[in-house]
Amino acid sequence: MVELAKTIFMAIGIFTVGLMIYVVACEIIDKFSKWRKNGCKIKCLCKPHVYEIEWHWVNDGETLLVCKKCGKKKKLFIDFDSFRK
Ligand SMILES: [Zn+2]
Repeated sequence: MVELAKTIFMAIGIFTVGLMIYVVACEIIDKFSKWRKNGCKIKCLCKPHVYEIEWHWVNDGETLLVCKKCGKKKKLFIDFDSFRK
């Protein structure tokens, strides 16, 4: 009986350690993918950025540009009246 209990506890112990390693690995992978999404060095290699206009606010010229290659966002204030002159 003692041997059986030892085996069960060992199995639980191995399972717990394995689960912890799995959780930590998942967190690291998750953080890494977030880091890649939110402006890491790989993104900085995207030059020149090719911006597309995401939206434009006519009243004050506020324009959100998004790079179609890496997804980098840039907010600008563009005076479109200057084109019409
Ligand atoms: Zn880019």
